[in-house]
Amino acid sequence: MKRFSIAVLPGDGIGPEVVRAAVEVLEAAASGFSLDCREYSVGAGEYLENGNPLPPETLEALKGHDAILLGAMGLPSVRWPNGVEMTPQIDLREELDLFQGVRPIRLFHPSHSPLKPEIAEGIDFVLMRENCEGLFAARKKGGSRTPEGATDVMRITRHGAERICRASFELARTRRRHLTLVDKANVLPSMAFFREVFDEVARGYPDVGTDRVYIDAMALFLVQDPRHFDVMVTENMFGDILSDLAAGLVGGMGMAPSADIGDRYAVFQPSHGSAPTIAGKNVANPVATILSAAMMLDWLGGEAAVSAARRIEAAVTKVLSNPEILTADLGGSTTTTGITDAIKAAL
Ligand code: ATP
Repeated sequence: MKRFSIAVLPGDGIGPEVVRAAVEVLEAAASGFSLDCREYSVGAGEYLENGNPLPPETLEALKGHDAILLGAMGLPSVRWPNGVEMTPQIDLREELDLFQGVRPIRLFHPSHSPLKPEIAEGIDFVLMRENCEGLFAARKKGGSRTPEGATDVMRITRHGAERICRASFELARTRRRHLTLVDKANVLPSMAFFREVFDEVARGYPDVGTDRVYIDAMALFLVQDPRHFDVMVTENMFGDILSDLAAGLVGGMGMAPSADIGDRYAVFQPSHGSAPTIAGKNVANPVATILSAAMMLDWLGGEAAVSAARRIEAAVTKVLSNPEILTADLGGSTTTTGITDAIKAAL
């Protein structure tokens, strides 16, 4: 029987609660394979205790596991001297070269969306966010700060643009064969370059339809006609912002799973942050993390794991089709443990 070794990084804020829920669901779904989970301390809490949010020996140990399941990291009250928050989850993407930020957005029940049901029903798209360069590349190098001002740099390389575009076309081929490029090619030379590379890669995928939309227009179209979209690809910062907008269409951050995937390693985590104001109250929505765990099983692969992923998705779909079961973010009073138990029972 296949045994998968999983590194579990609960992290900060609501991270530990939602990860606990996901691990329980994974264990309930495991059949024909088993999971060997090992926890590591990473995040703002780890920094406060030992001075480094992502200790080098932990990073090395993570590379020895088959996959990494992460809760959420960072706390607004814990910052570096330059004023920015600790973001070891972003460091992990860069260190492990997890260039694909895969963010599926699916509406499970019309009542979850702030949009009218006739616009929202059937929302089902995937946002592909380039994870290792773009405007986030300036975090560590390329930007400048003096007492008079600060500059961040948008970095797009041919290698980085090509591989995220190719991964997005490949994903589109497994879905409705439509890919939308989201950029700002009318204003920024870096984005015009991204579009050129996209067009080159597109020539290798004549079976996939394409659109090119500016980021500002995309914010409008996502609200007006979200069902039009199948797969969309964009640079790092635009992807960060669109992820939150997209999550809002289907009920909020608690409904948005994600996977950060490279050629060798992969990290699975909800799209949301550590939401410290609701931490420890048993009210966080664990669905995003549970669906991220299902994405992990898909990525690990093999008949048993993939079938367990489908069973988890089916259980989530069944539970969320019941309008009585709603966590606080969706306007109800079902607790974190309550919805987790319902999903386990549905399994
Ligand atoms: P980050 O920058 O680290 O991604 P953020 O600033 O986008 O974090 P989040 O922590 O994701 O902020 O929270 C955004 C909002 O969504 C907050 O109001 C938070 O309480 C809510 N939220 C996030 N995750 C959940 C969840 N799992 N369940 C319920 N509400 C959530």
